[in-house]
Amino acid sequence: MTSNFFKDIHEANKNGVAYKNIRLKKKILAYFATNETATIAELSKEFNISIPKINECVSELIEDELVKDYGKTTSAVGRKPNIYGLVANSAYFIGVQVGIDNLSISMINMKKDIVSKKDNIPYLLENNEQSLLDICKEINEFIAKHNIVKEKILGVGINLTGRINYRTGYSYSYFNFYEDPLSKLFEENIGIPTFLENDTKALSYAEFSSGILTDEKDALFINVDNGIGLGIMIDGKLYYGKSGFSGEFGHISIFDNDIICKCGKKGCLETEASGYALIRRVTDQINDGATSSLTKKFKKIEEIKLNDIISAAKKDDNLCIEAINYIGDKLGRGIASLINIFNPELIIIGGVVAKSEEYLSLPLKNAVNKYSLSTVNRDTKIILSSKNDNLASFGACLLLRDRLLNVTD
Ligand SMILES: [Zn+2]
Repeated sequence: MTSNFFKDIHEANKNGVAYKNIRLKKKILAYFATNETATIAELSKEFNISIPKINECVSELIEDELVKDYGKTTSAVGRKPNIYGLVANSAYFIGVQVGIDNLSISMINMKKDIVSKKDNIPYLLENNEQSLLDICKEINEFIAKHNIVKEKILGVGINLTGRINYRTGYSYSYFNFYEDPLSKLFEENIGIPTFLENDTKALSYAEFSSGILTDEKDALFINVDNGIGLGIMIDGKLYYGKSGFSGEFGHISIFDNDIICKCGKKGCLETEASGYALIRRVTDQINDGATSSLTKKFKKIEEIKLNDIISAAKKDDNLCIEAINYIGDKLGRGIASLINIFNPELIIIGGVVAKSEEYLSLPLKNAVNKYSLSTVNRDTKIILSSKNDNLASFGACLLLRDRLLNVTD
Protein backbone atom coordinates (compact mmCIF):
# COMPACT_ATOMS: atom_id res chain seq x y z
CA MET A 1 0.00 0.00 0.00
CA THR A 2 1.02 3.55 -0.71
CA SER A 3 1.05 4.66 2.90
CA ASN A 4 3.58 2.06 3.97
CA PHE A 5 6.21 3.25 1.57
CA PHE A 6 6.02 6.83 2.79
CA LYS A 7 5.78 5.72 6.42
CA ASP A 8 8.99 3.76 5.83
CA ILE A 9 10.71 6.89 4.55
CA HIS A 10 10.07 8.69 7.81
CA GLU A 11 10.79 5.78 10.12
CA ALA A 12 13.65 3.83 8.55
CA ASN A 13 17.10 4.08 10.07
CA LYS A 14 18.91 6.43 7.71
CA ASN A 15 22.11 4.39 7.80
CA GLY A 16 20.53 0.98 7.21
CA VAL A 17 20.45 -1.08 4.03
CA ALA A 18 16.64 -0.84 3.98
CA TYR A 19 16.92 2.94 3.84
CA LYS A 20 19.24 2.72 0.83
CA ASN A 21 16.52 0.79 -0.93
CA ILE A 22 13.82 3.28 0.07
CA ARG A 23 16.04 6.12 -1.02
CA LEU A 24 16.52 4.60 -4.46
CA LYS A 25 12.77 4.07 -4.79
CA LYS A 26 12.21 7.67 -3.81
CA LYS A 27 14.72 8.77 -6.44
CA ILE A 28 12.84 6.76 -9.05
CA LEU A 29 9.56 8.38 -8.00
CA ALA A 30 11.23 11.80 -8.16
CA TYR A 31 12.48 11.02 -11.64
CA PHE A 32 8.97 10.07 -12.77
CA ALA A 33 7.57 13.17 -11.07
CA THR A 34 9.78 15.35 -13.27
CA ASN A 35 10.16 13.30 -16.46
CA GLU A 36 6.78 11.50 -16.62
CA THR A 37 8.02 8.11 -17.85
CA ALA A 38 11.20 6.06 -18.31
CA THR A 39 12.41 2.60 -19.27
CA ILE A 40 14.39 0.41 -16.87
CA ALA A 41 17.53 1.03 -18.96
CA GLU A 42 17.05 4.80 -18.74
CA LEU A 43 16.69 4.64 -14.96
CA SER A 44 19.74 2.39 -14.71
CA LYS A 45 21.77 4.91 -16.70
CA GLU A 46 20.39 7.90 -14.77
CA PHE A 47 21.28 6.50 -11.32
CA ASN A 48 24.25 4.38 -12.37
CA ILE A 49 22.66 1.32 -10.74
CA SER A 50 22.44 -2.19 -12.22
CA ILE A 51 19.40 -3.15 -14.29
CA PRO A 52 18.41 -6.05 -11.93
CA LYS A 53 18.43 -3.68 -8.94
CA ILE A 54 16.30 -1.08 -10.76
CA ASN A 55 13.99 -3.87 -11.89
CA GLU A 56 13.54 -5.01 -8.30
CA CYS A 57 12.74 -1.47 -7.05
CA VAL A 58 10.31 -0.74 -9.89
CA SER A 59 8.54 -4.08 -9.23
CA GLU A 60 8.15 -3.15 -5.56
CA LEU A 61 6.80 0.28 -6.49
CA ILE A 62 4.31 -1.45 -8.81
CA GLU A 63 3.27 -3.69 -5.89
CA ASP A 64 2.84 -0.55 -3.77
CA GLU A 65 0.55 0.73 -6.58
CA LEU A 66 2.67 3.86 -6.96
CA VAL A 67 4.10 3.03 -10.37
CA LYS A 68 2.61 1.26 -13.37
CA ASP A 69 3.73 -0.32 -16.60
CA TYR A 70 2.59 1.90 -19.47
CA GLY A 71 3.38 -0.73 -22.14
CA LYS A 72 5.94 -0.81 -24.93
CA THR A 73 7.71 2.34 -26.01
CA THR A 74 7.07 3.43 -29.58
CA SER A 75 10.31 5.35 -30.07
CA ALA A 76 13.02 2.71 -29.73
CA VAL A 77 14.39 0.76 -32.68
CA GLY A 78 14.57 -3.03 -32.44
CA ARG A 79 13.23 -4.79 -29.33
CA LYS A 80 10.91 -2.32 -27.68
CA PRO A 81 11.31 -1.96 -23.89
CA ASN A 82 8.42 -1.20 -21.53
CA ILE A 83 7.98 2.27 -20.11
CA TYR A 84 6.98 3.01 -16.54
CA GLY A 85 5.46 6.02 -14.82
CA LEU A 86 3.46 7.17 -11.81
CA VAL A 87 -0.06 5.98 -11.08
CA ALA A 88 -2.07 9.22 -11.10
CA ASN A 89 -4.48 8.46 -8.26
CA SER A 90 -2.16 6.39 -6.09
CA ALA A 91 -1.68 9.30 -3.70
CA TYR A 92 -2.84 12.85 -3.07
CA PHE A 93 -1.54 16.16 -1.73
CA ILE A 94 -3.66 18.88 -0.13
CA GLY A 95 -2.79 22.60 -0.24
CA VAL A 96 -4.47 25.31 1.83
CA GLN A 97 -4.29 29.07 1.35
CA VAL A 98 -5.14 30.98 4.51
CA GLY A 99 -6.28 34.45 3.46
CA ILE A 100 -7.33 37.36 5.64
CA ASP A 101 -11.03 36.67 5.14
CA ASN A 102 -11.26 33.35 3.30
CA LEU A 103 -9.69 29.94 2.80
CA SER A 104 -8.97 28.04 -0.37
CA ILE A 105 -8.26 24.29 -0.39
CA SER A 106 -6.96 22.25 -3.34
CA MET A 107 -6.12 18.61 -3.77
CA ILE A 108 -3.86 17.22 -6.51
CA ASN A 109 -2.86 13.68 -7.39
CA MET A 110 0.60 12.25 -8.11
CA LYS A 111 0.51 13.65 -11.64
CA LYS A 112 -0.32 17.20 -10.51
CA ASP A 113 -3.93 17.06 -11.76
CA ILE A 114 -6.29 19.09 -9.57
CA VAL A 115 -8.76 16.52 -8.28
CA SER A 116 -10.74 18.90 -6.10
CA LYS A 117 -10.77 22.61 -5.25
CA LYS A 118 -12.85 24.77 -2.94
CA ASP A 119 -12.37 28.53 -2.98
CA ASN A 120 -13.73 31.44 -0.97
CA ILE A 121 -14.55 29.44 2.14
CA PRO A 122 -15.68 32.11 4.65
CA TYR A 123 -13.06 32.48 7.38
CA LEU A 124 -11.55 35.22 9.52
CA LEU A 125 -7.80 35.23 10.16
CA GLU A 126 -7.08 36.32 13.72
CA ASN A 127 -4.10 35.50 15.86
CA ASN A 128 -5.95 33.26 18.31
CA GLU A 129 -6.61 29.58 18.94
CA GLN A 130 -10.19 29.63 17.62
CA SER A 131 -9.00 30.97 14.27
CA LEU A 132 -6.45 28.13 14.10
CA LEU A 133 -9.05 25.49 14.99
CA ASP A 134 -11.37 26.89 12.30
CA ILE A 135 -8.69 26.11 9.68
CA CYS A 136 -8.38 22.53 10.97
CA LYS A 137 -12.17 22.12 10.92
CA GLU A 138 -12.41 23.22 7.28
CA ILE A 139 -9.54 20.94 6.23
CA ASN A 140 -11.07 17.97 8.06
CA GLU A 141 -14.48 18.64 6.46
CA PHE A 142 -12.82 18.89 3.03
CA ILE A 143 -11.09 15.52 3.54
CA ALA A 144 -14.25 13.87 4.90
CA LYS A 145 -16.21 14.86 1.79
CA HIS A 146 -13.89 12.87 -0.47
CA ASN A 147 -14.11 9.16 -0.67
CA ILE A 148 -10.36 8.69 -0.27
CA VAL A 149 -8.52 6.53 2.24
CA LYS A 150 -6.79 9.02 4.54
CA GLU A 151 -3.47 7.16 4.26
CA LYS A 152 -3.40 8.00 0.55
CA ILE A 153 -3.21 11.71 1.38
CA LEU A 154 0.53 12.05 1.83
CA GLY A 155 0.57 15.53 3.27
CA VAL A 156 -1.11 18.87 3.82
CA GLY A 157 0.68 22.10 2.89
CA ILE A 158 -0.63 25.24 4.59
CA ASN A 159 0.20 28.76 3.37
CA LEU A 160 0.28 31.54 5.90
CA THR A 161 1.18 35.17 5.54
CA GLY A 162 4.32 36.45 7.26
CA ARG A 163 7.50 34.82 8.44
CA ILE A 164 7.46 31.02 8.13
CA ASN A 165 10.37 28.67 8.69
CA TYR A 166 9.29 25.83 6.44
CA ARG A 167 12.10 23.59 7.65
CA THR A 168 11.17 23.71 11.34
CA GLY A 169 7.43 24.32 10.91
CA TYR A 170 7.40 27.48 13.04
CA SER A 171 5.32 30.53 12.16
CA TYR A 172 6.50 33.86 13.52
CA SER A 173 3.64 36.14 12.47
CA TYR A 174 0.44 34.14 13.12
CA PHE A 175 -0.44 31.43 15.67
CA ASN A 176 2.94 31.92 17.29
CA PHE A 177 1.71 31.35 20.84
CA TYR A 178 2.70 27.68 21.22
CA GLU A 179 5.99 26.17 22.24
CA ASP A 180 5.77 23.37 19.67
CA PRO A 181 6.13 24.04 15.95
CA LEU A 182 2.80 25.13 14.46
CA SER A 183 3.02 22.39 11.81
CA LYS A 184 2.92 19.80 14.63
CA LEU A 185 -0.30 21.29 16.03
CA PHE A 186 -1.95 21.15 12.63
CA GLU A 187 -0.70 17.60 12.20
CA GLU A 188 -2.24 16.50 15.50
CA ASN A 189 -5.59 18.00 14.53
CA ILE A 190 -5.65 16.71 10.96
CA GLY A 191 -3.89 13.36 11.38
CA ILE A 192 -1.76 13.81 8.25
CA PRO A 193 1.85 15.13 7.99
CA THR A 194 1.58 18.90 7.66
CA PHE A 195 4.03 21.47 6.34
CA LEU A 196 3.87 25.26 6.47
CA GLU A 197 4.74 27.61 3.65
CA ASN A 198 4.85 31.35 3.16
CA ASP A 199 1.88 32.35 0.98
CA THR A 200 3.88 34.43 -1.52
CA LYS A 201 6.38 31.61 -2.04
CA ALA A 202 3.57 29.15 -2.75
CA LEU A 203 1.85 31.57 -5.11
CA SER A 204 5.16 32.28 -6.87
CA TYR A 205 5.77 28.58 -7.31
CA ALA A 206 2.31 28.11 -8.82
CA GLU A 207 2.93 31.04 -11.19
CA PHE A 208 6.39 29.77 -12.18
CA SER A 209 4.94 26.29 -12.80
CA SER A 210 1.89 27.39 -14.75
CA GLY A 211 3.44 27.76 -18.18
CA ILE A 212 4.27 31.47 -17.90
CA LEU A 213 8.02 30.72 -18.14
CA THR A 214 9.52 29.72 -21.45
CA ASP A 215 13.09 28.87 -20.61
CA GLU A 216 13.76 31.50 -17.94
CA LYS A 217 15.60 30.20 -14.90
CA ASP A 218 16.02 33.50 -13.03
CA ALA A 219 12.68 35.13 -12.33
CA LEU A 220 10.99 37.18 -9.66
CA PHE A 221 7.32 37.17 -8.73
CA ILE A 222 6.00 40.23 -6.93
CA ASN A 223 2.73 39.79 -5.11
CA VAL A 224 1.11 43.20 -4.75
CA ASP A 225 -1.87 42.63 -2.55
CA ASN A 226 -2.56 44.44 0.69
CA GLY A 227 1.13 43.97 1.45
CA ILE A 228 4.00 43.26 -0.95
CA GLY A 229 5.62 39.83 -1.17
CA LEU A 230 8.43 38.54 -3.34
CA GLY A 231 9.15 35.05 -4.65
CA ILE A 232 12.67 34.53 -5.95
CA MET A 233 13.59 31.84 -8.46
CA ILE A 234 17.30 31.36 -9.02
CA ASP A 235 18.54 28.82 -11.51
CA GLY A 236 15.09 27.24 -11.66
CA LYS A 237 14.70 26.82 -7.90
CA LEU A 238 12.73 28.78 -5.34
CA TYR A 239 15.18 30.63 -3.10
CA TYR A 240 14.39 30.46 0.64
CA GLY A 241 17.42 31.89 2.43
CA LYS A 242 18.70 30.34 5.67
CA SER A 243 15.41 30.22 7.57
CA GLY A 244 12.89 30.68 4.77
CA PHE A 245 12.49 34.41 5.34
CA SER A 246 13.85 35.59 1.98
CA GLY A 247 11.71 37.96 -0.07
CA GLU A 248 10.68 40.53 2.55
CA PHE A 249 10.69 43.08 -0.24
CA GLY A 250 7.77 45.06 1.23
CA HIS A 251 9.88 45.95 4.25
CA ILE A 252 12.96 47.36 2.58
CA SER A 253 13.38 50.90 3.81
CA ILE A 254 13.45 53.31 0.88
CA PHE A 255 11.22 56.23 1.85
CA ASP A 256 11.83 59.06 4.23
CA ASN A 257 8.27 59.26 5.56
CA ASP A 258 6.55 59.10 8.91
CA ILE A 259 4.08 56.36 8.03
CA ILE A 260 4.28 53.44 10.45
CA CYS A 261 4.35 50.16 8.53
CA LYS A 262 2.51 47.11 9.85
CA CYS A 263 5.94 45.68 10.71
CA GLY A 264 6.38 48.57 13.15
CA LYS A 265 9.11 50.41 11.25
CA LYS A 266 8.95 53.58 9.15
CA GLY A 267 9.78 54.15 5.50
CA CYS A 268 9.11 50.61 4.22
CA LEU A 269 8.20 50.12 0.55
CA GLU A 270 4.78 48.87 1.72
CA THR A 271 3.95 52.26 3.22
CA GLU A 272 3.90 53.83 -0.28
CA ALA A 273 3.53 51.06 -2.86
CA SER A 274 1.12 48.38 -1.55
CA GLY A 275 -2.62 47.77 -1.55
CA TYR A 276 -2.79 49.22 1.97
CA ALA A 277 -1.03 52.33 0.70
CA LEU A 278 -3.44 52.59 -2.25
CA ILE A 279 -6.50 52.43 0.00
CA ARG A 280 -4.97 54.93 2.43
CA ARG A 281 -4.10 57.35 -0.36
CA VAL A 282 -7.60 57.28 -1.85
CA THR A 283 -9.45 57.55 1.48
CA ASP A 284 -7.13 60.31 2.78
CA GLN A 285 -7.78 62.36 -0.32
CA ILE A 286 -11.55 61.83 -0.10
CA ASN A 287 -11.39 62.89 3.56
CA ASP A 288 -9.56 66.02 2.42
CA GLY A 289 -12.46 66.85 0.11
CA ALA A 290 -11.39 65.31 -3.21
CA THR A 291 -14.22 64.06 -5.40
CA SER A 292 -14.54 60.52 -6.70
CA SER A 293 -17.27 58.19 -7.94
CA LEU A 294 -16.57 56.19 -4.78
CA THR A 295 -18.00 58.92 -2.54
CA LYS A 296 -21.43 58.35 -4.06
CA LYS A 297 -21.16 54.58 -3.84
CA PHE A 298 -19.87 54.32 -0.26
CA LYS A 299 -21.47 56.08 2.68
CA LYS A 300 -18.63 54.88 4.92
CA ILE A 301 -15.31 55.37 3.18
CA GLU A 302 -13.61 52.80 5.41
CA GLU A 303 -15.59 50.15 3.49
CA ILE A 304 -13.70 50.89 0.25
CA LYS A 305 -11.71 47.85 -0.84
CA LEU A 306 -8.88 47.44 -3.36
CA ASN A 307 -11.18 45.98 -6.01
CA ASP A 308 -13.51 49.01 -5.71
CA ILE A 309 -10.62 51.38 -6.41
CA ILE A 310 -9.44 49.34 -9.40
CA SER A 311 -12.97 49.10 -10.86
CA ALA A 312 -13.48 52.86 -10.40
CA ALA A 313 -10.15 53.57 -12.18
CA LYS A 314 -11.26 51.42 -15.10
CA LYS A 315 -14.41 53.56 -15.28
CA ASP A 316 -12.25 56.71 -15.62
CA ASP A 317 -12.29 57.86 -12.00
CA ASN A 318 -9.41 60.34 -11.96
CA LEU A 319 -8.69 60.15 -8.24
CA CYS A 320 -8.31 56.35 -8.40
CA ILE A 321 -6.24 56.45 -11.61
CA GLU A 322 -3.83 58.95 -10.09
CA ALA A 323 -3.55 56.95 -6.86
CA ILE A 324 -2.72 53.77 -8.81
CA ASN A 325 -0.20 55.72 -10.95
CA TYR A 326 1.45 56.92 -7.74
CA ILE A 327 1.67 53.35 -6.35
CA GLY A 328 3.08 52.14 -9.70
CA ASP A 329 5.81 54.78 -9.62
CA LYS A 330 6.85 53.92 -6.04
CA LEU A 331 6.74 50.19 -6.72
CA GLY A 332 8.84 50.68 -9.85
CA ARG A 333 11.45 52.40 -7.75
CA GLY A 334 11.66 49.37 -5.47
CA ILE A 335 11.74 46.98 -8.45
CA ALA A 336 14.60 48.98 -9.99
CA SER A 337 16.71 47.95 -6.97
CA LEU A 338 15.73 44.31 -7.42
CA ILE A 339 16.79 44.47 -11.08
CA ASN A 340 20.15 45.94 -10.13
CA ILE A 341 20.68 43.17 -7.57
CA PHE A 342 19.32 40.09 -9.37
CA ASN A 343 19.62 40.86 -13.11
CA PRO A 344 16.49 38.69 -13.63
CA GLU A 345 15.20 37.57 -17.03
CA LEU A 346 11.58 37.97 -16.04
CA ILE A 347 9.57 39.82 -13.40
CA ILE A 348 5.94 38.83 -12.95
CA ILE A 349 3.69 41.27 -11.10
CA GLY A 350 0.68 39.56 -9.54
CA GLY A 351 -1.82 40.07 -6.72
CA VAL A 352 -5.00 42.16 -6.69
CA VAL A 353 -3.25 45.46 -7.51
CA ALA A 354 -1.92 43.93 -10.76
CA LYS A 355 -5.51 43.95 -12.01
CA SER A 356 -5.06 47.72 -12.49
CA GLU A 357 -3.15 46.76 -15.65
CA GLU A 358 -1.63 49.74 -17.50
CA TYR A 359 -2.59 52.24 -14.79
CA LEU A 360 -0.01 50.39 -12.71
CA SER A 361 2.43 49.02 -15.29
CA LEU A 362 3.14 52.22 -17.27
CA PRO A 363 4.35 54.37 -14.35
CA LEU A 364 6.07 51.27 -12.92
CA LYS A 365 8.10 50.70 -16.10
CA ASN A 366 8.95 54.40 -16.29
CA ALA A 367 10.30 54.31 -12.75
CA VAL A 368 12.27 51.13 -13.49
CA ASN A 369 13.94 52.91 -16.44
CA LYS A 370 14.59 55.94 -14.31
CA TYR A 371 16.06 54.21 -11.26
CA SER A 372 17.83 51.06 -12.53
CA LEU A 373 20.93 50.73 -14.68
CA SER A 374 19.98 50.57 -18.34
CA THR A 375 22.55 47.87 -19.18
CA VAL A 376 20.98 45.70 -16.48
CA ASN A 377 17.27 46.42 -17.02
CA ARG A 378 17.58 45.73 -20.75
CA ASP A 379 17.72 42.03 -19.84
CA THR A 380 14.49 42.08 -17.86
CA LYS A 381 10.99 41.55 -19.16
CA ILE A 382 8.23 42.79 -16.85
CA ILE A 383 4.77 41.30 -17.22
CA LEU A 384 1.52 41.40 -15.27
CA SER A 385 0.04 38.07 -14.27
CA SER A 386 -3.36 37.43 -15.76
CA LYS A 387 -4.01 34.44 -13.53
CA ASN A 388 -6.92 34.37 -11.13
CA ASP A 389 -6.44 34.92 -7.40
CA ASN A 390 -6.75 31.34 -6.33
CA LEU A 391 -3.46 29.77 -7.42
CA ALA A 392 -1.85 29.84 -3.98
CA SER A 393 -3.47 26.64 -2.65
CA PHE A 394 -2.39 24.86 -5.87
CA GLY A 395 1.15 26.20 -5.25
CA ALA A 396 1.05 24.68 -1.76
CA CYS A 397 0.12 21.31 -3.32
CA LEU A 398 3.00 21.52 -5.81
CA LEU A 399 5.59 22.47 -3.20
CA LEU A 400 4.41 19.67 -0.96
CA ARG A 401 4.53 17.12 -3.77
CA ASP A 402 8.07 18.21 -4.66
CA ARG A 403 9.13 18.14 -1.05
CA LEU A 404 7.77 14.63 -0.42
CA LEU A 405 8.88 13.11 -3.71
CA ASN A 406 12.26 14.68 -4.25
CA VAL A 407 15.36 13.39 -2.55
CA THR A 408 16.73 16.21 -0.50
CA ASP A 409 18.57 14.38 2.27
ZN1 LIG B 1 7.57 47.28 7.07
